[in-house]
Amino acid sequence: MTKKQFQTIRFLRVFIIVLTMAKIKDSDAEARMYKNVFVCMKCNAKRRAKSKVNLLCRKCGSNNMRNKKKAAKK
Ligand SMILES: [Zn+2]
Repeated sequence: MTKKQFQTIRFLRVFIIVLTMAKIKDSDAEARMYKNVFVCMKCNAKRRAKSKVNLLCRKCGSNNMRNKKKAAKK
């Protein structure tokens, strides 16, 4: 193996690792944004909580909460 080939392979490996890390970071941010977030069905107020059980809206006091969806479907 020539030195140039070796460098190319090393570069590719680093590149793949960086890409993988970026992907993990992305899903992390997504989880932080959408996980444990609930939206009131009456007034659309968002609320962060561990579970839907006994969760009341902070604005209208309704217990009619839904999970926040990842993206709006067209
Ligand atoms: Zn509400």
